[in-house]
Amino acid sequence: MHEFSLIRSMLDIVEDYAAKHGFEHVNAIRLSFGRLSCIEPKSLEFGFKIQSEGTKAEGATLEFDIHPVVVYCLDCEKEFHADHWCDACPTCKGENVMLNGGMEELKIVSLDVI
Ligand SMILES: [Zn+2]
Repeated sequence: MHEFSLIRSMLDIVEDYAAKHGFEHVNAIRLSFGRLSCIEPKSLEFGFKIQSEGTKAEGATLEFDIHPVVVYCLDCEKEFHADHWCDACPTCKGENVMLNGGMEELKIVSLDVI
């Protein structure tokens, strides 16, 4: 499972921070990733519940900032936000489109700690 290792490294980072900054517990973890990064918030939450048991992040809420898919059209020189990758411009139907965002990897944006 793809999410398993992501959560593992996320928890490692949290434990690292806890050691450095001396906090006791994490209330919430804000994460960001691109819509095209193949990460399922539901399976991330599910896996997190199990894997965070006994860590400082046990019971923490996960919040998600999901970056939209950004498509740039070279013909009309405009940028579009989409829910999924599309290979034609929604305005001019041109096919000279480039992917400009949406593939960002999982990142911890912030930790709400006690
Ligand atoms: Zn266009």
